[in-house]
Amino acid sequence: MLDTKACTKCGGSFPATLEYFRQDRSSDSGLTRWCKPCLAEYGRAYRAANREKINACKRRCRSQDPAALERERAYQRAYRERRRGEQA
Ligand SMILES: [Zn+2]
Repeated sequence: MLDTKACTKCGGSFPATLEYFRQDRSSDSGLTRWCKPCLAEYGRAYRAANREKINACKRRCRSQDPAALERERAYQRAYRERRRGEQA
């Protein structure tokens, strides 16, 4: 049986799966309270508004957690490859 879960941002109802929500260990359901499209939209706006702050944080995090840098590199590689595929 598939539970549904309401996004607290757009109010839409979606299956409570990782296809529609992201993992959030701090929440009761283990999933984020916002659906993925809402998270993506918020993330875009947040990054645009806080570009400097995020870059500064990234520099700090890098020095504290080498594994995070490796994860970030892998993510960016995958992202670039996806973009290239879209444009081709
Ligand atoms: Zn939503």
